[in-house]
Amino acid sequence: MRFEISKVLDAIEGRVCTDPSLARAVVDLAEVIRYQDIDGGRPASLLRLGMVIDALSRELEEDSVQVYAVVHRALLSDADLTSNERMVVRRWADDGLVEVLDNPGDRMLEVADLLGLPVLSRVRFDGLRGRFPWLVEQPGRVVAPVPGAGGPVFIAHVGGGHSPVAGKRSPTGVKLLARQWRCPESGCALFGGGGGGGAFADLAGGADRSPAAQPPPALRNGVPTCPRHGVRLGDGGPRPRTEVLAVRVGGLVRRRFVLSEEQPIVAGRAPEQDGGIMLGQWLNDEARRWISRGHVRFELRVGEVIVTDVSTNGSGIRPAGSMAESDRIPLAPQQSRVLGENDMVELYPGVQIGRAEELPTGAPFTPTSVMAEAPTMAMRLPRP
Ligand SMILES: [Zn+2]
Repeated sequence: MRFEISKVLDAIEGRVCTDPSLARAVVDLAEVIRYQDIDGGRPASLLRLGMVIDALSRELEEDSVQVYAVVHRALLSDADLTSNERMVVRRWADDGLVEVLDNPGDRMLEVADLLGLPVLSRVRFDGLRGRFPWLVEQPGRVVAPVPGAGGPVFIAHVGGGHSPVAGKRSPTGVKLLARQWRCPESGCALFGGGGGGGAFADLAGGADRSPAAQPPPALRNGVPTCPRHGVRLGDGGPRPRTEVLAVRVGGLVRRRFVLSEEQPIVAGRAPEQDGGIMLGQWLNDEARRWISRGHVRFELRVGEVIVTDVSTNGSGIRPAGSMAESDRIPLAPQQSRVLGENDMVELYPGVQIGRAEELPTGAPFTPTSVMAEAPTMAMRLPRP
């Protein structure tokens, strides 16, 4: 049983991130793990984060949805958690997957404001409506997880709807996210790479984060600041451009990924390249036979997404997402093409990749529960 719980926690680990391009909602981890009436269980349980992520996945009708968690440092020594759970949260903190802060204050709302994300919280934040007008102006920007028949559901504090609603990045957020930032503290998991020189990582800190994936800085008196260390961040130059792509299989978006100018990404049944997007687990036998291990390669060049077929059998482009067979443009092996704004590349009928914002998802299928996803995470590499 203990082992199974570890596997579920590993699966949940894949759903927490501080990447501005991938996070879909902001949560206060300390608050979520104490939603005791969700399952009537222990005073604190990290599994409740999985339940809330599942609820978000159901609302967005999308798999592999990730959340941005902010948490008070006290959680690392919270006696209501098991020692295993505390260890897991500490690891998330060390890897920069969650923001662990001495004083979270209104950081959660700041992140939501800068990134245009909804907030999953039972707190109403009435006192902050002046600073963050979207709290009242955009119904659904803050939704409370409450117990439901098949797990938690959401209720908006304003307007009473059920769906978390995303906004737009604030102008400040757009500005901050155009630059990369460096924390002077060595081994900072959020803004590492203090040595600079184009290296991604401060190896001592174990943060192998691409500058494109850095979280939004905190603003203190208008100065970009490391939320973890409270020190002024150095400007590390322009942030690499990115484009968020999504994989849709059978009508449901299975995962998003970030393509940056820094390196191409190969998607296929089981790509060998670093950072490859593996599709095998979502494919039926016919699709598996058709789709090569590495099938298509994506590159971001001067703001354009270039797709190159690197497969044996070829693929096709569906311009403007058209599903009419006559519109499908074949993409032969080794052929390249600029992916238009609404285009998607089709590796096999029903297996498509396109810009996340332009790829409708919907649901003949229910998204996979993060709680049940555990067995597929067995390949996770052991930590040194
Ligand atoms: Zn720092």
